[in-house]
Amino acid sequence: MLELKMYVNGEWQQAQSGKTRDVVNPATGEVIAKAAEGDVEDAKRAIAAAKEAFDSGVWSELPGAERARVLFKIADLIESRQEELSRLETMDNGKTLRESGFDIADAAACFRYYAGAVTKPHGQTYSVADPMQAMVVREPVGVCGLITPWNFPMLMVVWKVAPALAAGNTIVIKPSEITPITCTKLVEIIEEAGVPKGVVNLVMGAGATVGNELAESQDVDLVSFTGGTTTGRNIMRAAAGNIKKISLELGGKSPNIIFADADFDAAVDYALFGIYCGAGQVCSAGSRILVEESIYDRFVEAFAERAQKIRVGNGLDAQSEMGPVVSQAHMEKILGYVEIGKQEGARLLFGGNRLTDEAHANGFFVEPTAFVDVKQDMRIVQEEIFGPVCVIQKFKDEAEAIELANGTVYGLAGGVFTQDGAKAMRVIKKLRAGITWINAYHPTYNEAPWGGYKQSGIGRGLGTYGLDEFMEIKQININLQVGPVGWFEG
Ligand code: NAD
Repeated sequence: MLELKMYVNGEWQQAQSGKTRDVVNPATGEVIAKAAEGDVEDAKRAIAAAKEAFDSGVWSELPGAERARVLFKIADLIESRQEELSRLETMDNGKTLRESGFDIADAAACFRYYAGAVTKPHGQTYSVADPMQAMVVREPVGVCGLITPWNFPMLMVVWKVAPALAAGNTIVIKPSEITPITCTKLVEIIEEAGVPKGVVNLVMGAGATVGNELAESQDVDLVSFTGGTTTGRNIMRAAAGNIKKISLELGGKSPNIIFADADFDAAVDYALFGIYCGAGQVCSAGSRILVEESIYDRFVEAFAERAQKIRVGNGLDAQSEMGPVVSQAHMEKILGYVEIGKQEGARLLFGGNRLTDEAHANGFFVEPTAFVDVKQDMRIVQEEIFGPVCVIQKFKDEAEAIELANGTVYGLAGGVFTQDGAKAMRVIKKLRAGITWINAYHPTYNEAPWGGYKQSGIGRGLGTYGLDEFMEIKQININLQVGPVGWFEG
């Protein structure tokens, strides 16, 4: 049984209350760890430590190259523990080892990207009215609260920690209470890499207590949040007290548009990957598959045939292609949506059940599921289910595809499959979404910005945009001929 402690001001410690929370392996239902369960007081202490560390300049005033050296070391250490971290991620979240392996490798790559980027940001100078010279510099924002979800327990933390540290901030991390394991391992690595005490703090606990304190505190300068849209709205409200900077990466209900002239096999294959990878618990999942009328029947048949062959099982088993969903409560929410879909009059094409045979009995396994014959205003079309459940819709032309694609409150991601390059670009340009693909679905990279339109969020992570989120911009006006201004005569 793992025992997970919090990390405040350079010390590993239990919650002040002494409380702990059970962490459950979703493939077996077993308790695999006990995590310190912090509350508001623990969050306050961590914020105070981060503030003191920021004000001391011990990190923020280091040359960028020095911070980069530490970030490179963190990347190396993550890589050296790749196998252990992948296993823990699978046991905590349920995703397959193959999926966890990608996430951990990506986490190391993200630290390397920002280690490289931090020595590159440059300001500008402007030639303004003589004898003045204006110059722009970037500075860290200050104390940052980082609040993350359970679907990529380590990677979502790293997407925030790497740019925040690169920029010179001090931080308090609050990982999802459901999946805290790899985040504590990451903080061990950060400590080993030599980040000074107080710069990185970790407080586990509930969103309503620890998360809310980070969003509300007058001593936190920025809150960076990834999670559901409803929570994002609460965080925005809480952050208003001191006009905190906020970045919000929220939910989605993303369209995957397949035209009749697409490479058929590629489109079917990516559509499966788009929705069933991560058991559909991916914010950018292609959960609405829109298919052109003339190939609709053929597509539905091919998609159903392949989806029902997906091997669902414990992520630690190399044979498994799709793991369980993260928790019992989440499984019940997903199965609840299956019932809603049936009641709304949609036709269940396949799936829709929990797997209960001997191999799956104690875990939270949901079959790959698809609905057809849906209407755009149904809840299963409009709301994020966040499980292995998609809807397949029919469209007659480009205009209708765009209308359906943009017809939800979300705007996170979207894909288009066609062999007509001009059509692909026309449709992509009309999509109100921040992350898009042509003839692919899901692959994204540290170099390019990540974030949503509409109710899918505010701001952008990753890339140089992600570094900008964690920096303030200052103008400095320099007088090159020092003397009185001479405005007042007396
Ligand atoms: P969630 O919103 O329930 O929780 C996310 C985090 O917020 C957790 O750490 C939680 O404890 C905390 N939290 C909850 N209430 C809070 C409050 N009132 N104040 C402060 N913090 C609070 O989300 P989840 O169920 O963990 O994750 C799934 C959601 O995350 C999905 O909607 C998914 O689309 C979204 N997501 C978005 C992205 C993206 O990049 N846009 C990436 C991954 C996940």
